Amino acid sequence: MKLDIENIKKGNKSTVDLDFSLNLNTIDYDGDIIKVKTPVDISGKLYIIDSRLYLNLKIKTDLEATCSRCLELFSYPFKSNINVELVHEDLLHQQEEEVDEDIIYYQESTIDLDDLVKEHILMNIPMKFICDTSCKGLCYNCGVKIKDGSCDCDNGSFQSDDDEYVDPRLAKLKNFSQQD
Ligand SMILES: [Zn+2]
Ligand SMILES: [Zn+2]
Repeated sequence: MKLDIENIKKGNKSTVDLDFSLNLNTIDYDGDIIKVKTPVDISGKLYIIDSRLYLNLKIKTDLEATCSRCLELFSYPFKSNINVELVHEDLLHQQEEEVDEDIIYYQESTIDLDDLVKEHILMNIPMKFICDTSCKGLCYNCGVKIKDGSCDCDNGSFQSDDDEYVDPRLAKLKNFSQQD
């Protein structure tokens, strides 16, 4: 969906209410494809103050994520706000300040909300998804997801705190280096 900025600026309304949903389906995250399970709910407003243009949006959707501990797929509820100023690209060079995260530059006279929302989601998802803070990941020994009675191995010493957590794929490496 594209917003016609110039038209809005020419109009006599200083605020435009926005309420729509976007079907993004997937987002390409450096080659990793993130599935967007539900249409992204977007509501908010575009407004003009002293001929400067601001965009405030609330966005909400569900992403399909892979737990970095147990490697299972789960539904990750994503909720966030976008609060930015929209500035035409022509004005980019006139600004001496450093790159400001709160400014989005647009080309021509429109802004592509699909791209804007996709980018915002990418910038605001965690580095690692965890299905549940109590997720204990996979058993180092047999590879089964650790739940009570899920396997007969001794997982008693396992700590689920982030500091203590060792990726099962790295555990072997760690044991190896401790032998030196
Ligand atoms: Zn998990
Ligand atoms: Zn096991």
